[in-house]
Amino acid sequence: MKATELGGLAETPEKTDRVPVLFVGHGSPMNAIEENEFSRAWRQLGQEIPRPKVILCISAHWETRGTHVTAMEDPPTIHDFGGFPRELFETDYPAKGSPWLAAEARAAVKKAAVGMDSEWGLDHGCWSVLKQMFPKADVPVVELSLDHFKPGRYHYELAKDLAPLRRKGVLILASGNLVHNLGKVEFAGGGPGSFNRHFGLDWALEASALFRKLIEEDRHDELMDYRSLGAAAQLAIPTPEHFVPLLYAIAMKRPDEPIVFFNDAPVAGSLTMTSLRIG
Ligand code: ZN
Repeated sequence: MKATELGGLAETPEKTDRVPVLFVGHGSPMNAIEENEFSRAWRQLGQEIPRPKVILCISAHWETRGTHVTAMEDPPTIHDFGGFPRELFETDYPAKGSPWLAAEARAAVKKAAVGMDSEWGLDHGCWSVLKQMFPKADVPVVELSLDHFKPGRYHYELAKDLAPLRRKGVLILASGNLVHNLGKVEFAGGGPGSFNRHFGLDWALEASALFRKLIEEDRHDELMDYRSLGAAAQLAIPTPEHFVPLLYAIAMKRPDEPIVFFNDAPVAGSLTMTSLRIG
């Protein structure tokens, strides 16, 4: 049989195996190059999970009007932060793109017309994690943007359309932080150098426990309606972009799939690194 007759199947030898879905709390961009408990967990995970053919990353740091995917062959590394050491700005993540996956994602989404982007690249929500998880940058990566103007349910339903990609060797990496309020950062017993020391303000711990409970109990409607989860959750989600990637991850969970939490710790008072692996 010629490759053309196989169509998409030619690209999908492991069609029946679902690749896990990850939501990763990315925290400080320095985790890309630092050796710490969080980066170690990312590295270990990269060695544990079945090797994906390609990665679809939903990053908190790419907000747009409409939904877009990076469609270029060679996405540039975007250093979208300030005030960090030069070493971090000199760190690149030279993974290839995947026009194939960009086209698959566009075709899969019924809910919206997905734009094919040639301007963006890989922002730090994506590459700071992947630098540790797949340090050789030898798995192609496509990013999917967050439509800033849409409610939680839109993101959840769009992700449902994308779920079948899991059967085509696509690793879904949603990257944000469940609790993320930079305006309320506090350092326990030190300056910014102590960023990753475990420390959570009362409201951050309360919100974190609530999110974890809702995730464990598959209470997706409540998570989609995150603005109605009370005062602690509102402090945890002052703007939605770091929380919304979670909705992509849980939307792709099958009812029988286990969830494993990792890096479940508060840092800098007002962030959590809580991460989950589905499947
Ligand atoms: Zn971030």
